[in-house]
Amino acid sequence: MTSRLTVFGWHNVESTWCFPVSGSGVAGLEGQLRRLRRLANVVPLERALDALRAGEPLPPRAVALCWDDGYRDNLELAVPVLERLGLPATFFLVPGLLSGDDRAWWEIAGWAFARSTRESADWRGERYPTRGAAGRQAYGRASDRLRVMTAAERAVALEELVDRLTPEGSPGDGRLFLDWEGARELVERGFSVGSHTMRHVTLAQETPEDQAEDLRRSREVLERELQVPIRTVAYPFGQADAVSRETESAAARAGYAHGLTTEFGWNGAATPGTHGRRIMLDPDRGFVATGLSRVTGRLDRLRRTR
Ligand SMILES: [Zn+2]
Repeated sequence: MTSRLTVFGWHNVESTWCFPVSGSGVAGLEGQLRRLRRLANVVPLERALDALRAGEPLPPRAVALCWDDGYRDNLELAVPVLERLGLPATFFLVPGLLSGDDRAWWEIAGWAFARSTRESADWRGERYPTRGAAGRQAYGRASDRLRVMTAAERAVALEELVDRLTPEGSPGDGRLFLDWEGARELVERGFSVGSHTMRHVTLAQETPEDQAEDLRRSREVLERELQVPIRTVAYPFGQADAVSRETESAAARAGYAHGLTTEFGWNGAATPGTHGRRIMLDPDRGFVATGLSRVTGRLDRLRRTR
């Protein structure tokens, strides 16, 4: 018997600057979770990954659920639904966002485009329109450029971008994310927690030493603050340009048993421990399926990374 584990991941529940959700995100999410509960066996992520590596069997159609980034609505909206349905889940948290020492650049850039007072902005040799669908597309292009910078380069580039876009108001990004108190509540309510790095850097763009240091520190800080073992990391963004061979070896050296990318697919006994696969979802895009194999097939077009 071959064991397989499909890991589904989400970020926000309701709209944020970066990722607008059409309609009610929480209703969409509840529909997705109810369907998964009906079609699959939802199991605790870490225990299932341990079992896979140990060659132990999993229930048929095993599925695990997780959320990245620590958006506040994970606790306020997703957790009550998970509790109602009796489903386990894991939340991948970023100490720098929980403490407020770091800010989510993708939300700041999203706000700067959405609230720009300019029709378009010139930034680093390219023109970026700001309105309508072209504006959203331009935001995606700018994000793609920001994503593949080092943290230090990105801080400068983001400041320039915001300056060119001259948005009105403020991003209010502090309110979008959980603080430590919220993170503790997730643990108190029986949910699992993993690391999503210290500052949500794009690991592969940093030096191997910096990657190892970030991964080690984020594990230590989360363990100290939350008093739980941290054994799994979800690499930020998680695609090939964000997760290198060095990233995976740094994760192993930093003491993680499991590392999760956003490479699309399910996990089997032969999937490398530091290169797990996930299927990332939005709450407002449903899936129609009569079985999990069809679910995963149809979800191909819903891929999303952050
Ligand atoms: Zn993330």
